[in-house]
Formats: sequence, structure tokens, C-alpha cells
Amino acid sequence: MFENINRHYSSADDLGTLDFNGESEYCNFHGDEMTIAKGYSSVIEALASVLPDGLIQLGRKVTKIEWQYDGGAGTKPVKLHFSDESVMYADHVIVTVSLGVLKKGIRDNSAMFSPQLPSFKTEAISRLGFGVVDKLFLKLSSPSTHDDNGMIFPYLQMVFHQSDSKLFHPKVPLWIRRTALIYPIYPNSSTIVSWFAGKEALEMESLDDEEIIDGVSTTMSFFLANSKQFKNSVKFSNILRCKWGSNPLFLGSYTYIAVGSSGDDLDAMAEPLPKRISKNCPPLQILFAGEATHRSCYSTTHGAYLTGLREANRLLKHFQCVDDV
Ligand SMILES: Cc1cc2nc3c(=O)[nH]c(=O)nc-3n(C[C@H](O)[C@H](O)[C@H](O)COP(=O)(O)OP(=O)(O)OC[C@H]3O[C@@H](n4cnc5c(N)ncnc54)[C@H](O)[C@@H]3O)c2cc1C
Repeated sequence: MFENINRHYSSADDLGTLDFNGESEYCNFHGDEMTIAKGYSSVIEALASVLPDGLIQLGRKVTKIEWQYDGGAGTKPVKLHFSDESVMYADHVIVTVSLGVLKKGIRDNSAMFSPQLPSFKTEAISRLGFGVVDKLFLKLSSPSTHDDNGMIFPYLQMVFHQSDSKLFHPKVPLWIRRTALIYPIYPNSSTIVSWFAGKEALEMESLDDEEIIDGVSTTMSFFLANSKQFKNSVKFSNILRCKWGSNPLFLGSYTYIAVGSSGDDLDAMAEPLPKRISKNCPPLQILFAGEATHRSCYSTTHGAYLTGLREANRLLKHFQCVDDV
């Protein structure tokens, strides 16, 4: 159970690939954890509300970022190409695509950056780990039973036989056998959430809704067979799930320090380009933000947010709008 919960926390499919020293630099943020009732987009909307209307353009996929080692012909050094074949010129670009998208760019040798990223960047991108973690939400159909605490579904921590497949129940699907938790999103809710990681998450992403409902229902009926309150009440009507592993704009969920990488790689991720500034080479052409660029808060929303502030401040300092960051 501990292993499987930590697969969710870390995003590492195999905990043996986590670098113990590197991971020990991870810091929990102070204060309580909270759920944002209106969703994360409400945070973005509040931040963006001070910007002029129309400044933020959504749904525009960048296909190539052209930057310059030395003075080019254009008045602005960075040229962005979009999937609709339009282009945009900029003095500075802050890249916040996921580590999964950057890794794919290197694997496929695709020309997302032209010239290609320098080796100190590509090596850090390749060494760091980026795993898949997905949440699955299930709606209980017409729940009628409550336990003494008013719960219509219990908070379940599950343990499955792992090593001896002869002990596996043939009706419990393999993709659920490494899920440790399934529970209502709040105590008397009829919406149940469960977490999937690694190979099992990718498998879950590929299934039909019906297969998932069948698999979870069968598993729950075994777990709750001896429960007076819940044994007949586990029927799910529909599901909602994320597909972070297969979504081409994410290709995974969040970063971990894989064996062979370290916090220095996260710092390398954060370094702006070009690294060496010369008379002919405009400074701060490409800056990097996002969770994979924060040494101690990687893998988190606040890490991503703080790196956005860091890079905005870097530019403000460059333009002498602030004294120091
Ligand atoms: C199941 C799950 C639970 C989590 N729980 C928590 C939690 O409780 N607390 C917490 O702090 N964090 C949590 N996280 C982590 C948190 O959500 C991430 O760390 C955070 O969203 C990362 O933000 P980011 O801006 O770095 O990257 P992303 O959110 O990955 O954003 C990258 C953006 O780049 C865009 N993009 C990609 N390619 C292109 C392209 N070619 N052109 C244009 N745009 C492109 C994508 O569309 C996306 O909008 C969780 C994550 C998951 C998956």
C-alpha cells in the first residue's frame, strides 16, 4: 500500500527509479492543503484579470521556436511558429510546456527549437523523470445506504497480491491491482475518486468507460462482500478521468528526480537561453518556467506558479523595473 501511494505522490512507475538524495530536496509547502472549489482555472482567471482583453490567445499550438545564437536579420530575435502556420515575433519567450513535451521533442529529434537546445538542457531534460498519474472519478448510481457516519461509500485502502499471480482473482483487472485508495471526494458525496499511476494509468486511459465501470464494480464487490452497509450498493453510472499520459500537450503528469539526475538538473532546466551573452546575441531570448524548473517544489502547482513569478521578475530586472529578485 505504501509503495502504491508513493507511486502516486512521486509519479515514478517504479520507486526503484527514484533518486533518494535528489528527492530529499523536495519541500512541502507551508500551510494546509486545500481544494479550489471553482477549479484551478479560477486562479488563472484572477491573475489574468489585470491584463488587457484579448492579450491572452488560447488554442494556439506552437510548433517551432526559432532563436538566435548571434545577431540575426529580424528586429526581434525570437520567431514563434504556430500549427495554423501563423508566426509571431518576440524579444522574449517564456516556455512552460511540460517536461513530457520537451522529452518527446528530444526523442523524436523534432525541430521544436531551432537551433536545437544546447546539450546542458537536453541532458537535464533526458535525465529527469516524468511519470503518469491520473485521477478517475466515478458516480454512484442511486446510492441509498449510509453507514453510521453518513457515508454512502467507505474510504478504502486496498492491498492486492502483487507477486504470485496464482493468487490473483481472475475477475479483478490487472490495471486496478496497484491502486491503493478509493474514497468519496467528501464524506457524504456520491462521487468517488481513485488514483492510478505508471503503466496502470496508461492502461486505464486506453479503456472504454464500460470496461472501467465493470472492472471497478467487480473489484469493489469483492472488497465490500463482508460489509453490511455497502455490499449491495456499489453500482456506478458514469465516470470522468484524466488522460495526462496520452494527451499530446502533456505526455505525463509531473516531474520526479530519477536515478542519475539531481536538483542541479532542475536548476539547468530553469536557465534562460542563450547561456553566454555577447554583443551579437540578444539576451534572455528563451526563458523556462513550469513545475520542472523548481528545485524544491517541482511536481506541484505552487512550484509552477513560483517559477512564473521568477521568470517575470527576471525580465523586470532586465528592464530595470525592479532592483533585485
Ligand atoms: C492527478 C494529479 C494530481 C495533482 N495534485 C496536485 C496537488 O494536489 N497539489 C499540487 O500542487 N499539484 C498537484 N498536481 C501537479 C500540478 O497539477 C502540476 O505540477 C502543474 O499543473 C504543472 O503546471 P505547469 O504549468 O508546469 O505545466 P502544465 O500544467 O503541464 O502546463 C503546460 C501547458 O503547456 C501547454 N502546451 C504544451 N505543448 C504546447 C505547444 N506546443 N504549444 C502551446 N502550448 C503547449 C499545455 O496545453 C499546458 O497548458 C497534480 C497533478 C496531477 C496530474
